[in-house]
Amino acid sequence: MNDSKPIIIAGGGIGGLAAARMLAIKGRKSIVLEQAPEFGEIGAGIQLGPNTHRMFDRLQVTKDMHKIAHFPENIVMMDSVSGEEILKMPLGAKLEAYFGKPYAVIHRADLHAVLLKACMKMNEIDLRTGVAVSNFTPTNNGITVDTEDGQTFEGSGLIGADGLWSKIRAEIIGDGDPIVSGHIAYRAVLPVNEVPAALDKWMEDVVLWAGPRNHLVHYKLRRGELFNIVAVFHSKKYVEGWDEFGDPAELYEHFKGVQPEVQALLKKINVWKMWVLCDRIPAKAWTDGRVTLIGDAAHPMLQYLAAGAGMAMEDAVCLVDLLEKLDGNIETAFAEYPRRRYLRTARVQLTARYYGDIYHAEGVARELRNLIIGEKKTGNPYAGIEWLYGKNSDQIGGY
Ligand SMILES: Cc1cc2nc3c(=O)[nH]c(=O)nc-3n(C[C@H](O)[C@H](O)[C@H](O)COP(=O)(O)OP(=O)(O)OC[C@H]3O[C@@H](n4cnc5c(N)ncnc54)[C@H](O)[C@@H]3O)c2cc1C
Repeated sequence: MNDSKPIIIAGGGIGGLAAARMLAIKGRKSIVLEQAPEFGEIGAGIQLGPNTHRMFDRLQVTKDMHKIAHFPENIVMMDSVSGEEILKMPLGAKLEAYFGKPYAVIHRADLHAVLLKACMKMNEIDLRTGVAVSNFTPTNNGITVDTEDGQTFEGSGLIGADGLWSKIRAEIIGDGDPIVSGHIAYRAVLPVNEVPAALDKWMEDVVLWAGPRNHLVHYKLRRGELFNIVAVFHSKKYVEGWDEFGDPAELYEHFKGVQPEVQALLKKINVWKMWVLCDRIPAKAWTDGRVTLIGDAAHPMLQYLAAGAGMAMEDAVCLVDLLEKLDGNIETAFAEYPRRRYLRTARVQLTARYYGDIYHAEGVARELRNLIIGEKKTGNPYAGIEWLYGKNSDQIGGY
């Protein structure tokens, strides 16, 4: 690939590090500018569909990811009012045989740490922390990037991997603040030996308890040593950020009336972290000349499809593949990249909203949900998610 100046990456989250790693694998230099004083991720579980494992292969981190991940046996959907099992989708060997890659869950901090370690091994990557990008200016053959502490960096291009509240997106797309969904997530992680015995039969599964205007997800993490819990409910609250303390009393109020197993789990946790769930309407103009967006900066989504980290890594791999294919021509590759990606990521964004409605259904909608999803107990359990996990989805930018 030509063009000797490094590519500047704003943001050292999952997307930014994946982009740096992929560029380095192709011999291309980058500078990662992360605003936080240290690289890191907030602690919560992330589900890794087979498409994500294909990206791990491309990023050459599969072995390290699999050492620290956990491989559950089923995804189970329960009705948290009646206690009825709505759906059980096998994971494990059956899913792996179907998609050619496994399904796993991982602590976000572990995923990020593996990527960071992989980036630190590459001389092509210059990792900087405590540096917040404030603006950028296109030049004849590149881009200058200014930071809040008064530094200026020169690069051949700029990748905005600066997440939901992206400053780079504000310049390129300018579509205002993220959309507040009215859903709020509380999360906690327990040592696995503190999980109430009432949940014994589901310990090896990813379980989603669907309730009226709420749901709760739990599964083991970190080689099975930890237990991840995320409780989501409707609320008018808005607090920016992903790491605020939650109010247990508010949570219990929203989950009163759910099955005793769920109540027992909720009561076990004293300290919850919460965040308000936001997304945006899908857009496709992610690129302006030598500047483009990846990950949540490009297509923030609600987490109901558990696919945001996977999409960020697919973006990174797609962008660098195009750079290589187009002989390192940044403007051509950056222009082509959103065309390859926007329909796939828009499908995830919009389907995630729809899944949120399904999980939180009440009244007749709840009965209908149980009936329709229950019909999937027979037949091919994976038919509905082939577009997301399968590798034959090139027409919508699948990898
Ligand atoms: C509750 C929840 C559950 C989820 N579950 C899953 C799941 O199961 N599976 C899955 O695949 N995905 C999941 N996701 C989504 C996934 O976590 C995100 O899509 C993914 O982390 C996006 O990565 P990113 O690098 O684009 O953005 P981020 O992780 O937000 O990283 C952006 C980085 O940029 C930095 N930054 C911001 N502004 C600046 C600036 N001006 N200058 C420099 N640095 C800056 C930030 O500090 C941050 O480090 C979930 C998300 C949520 C909220």
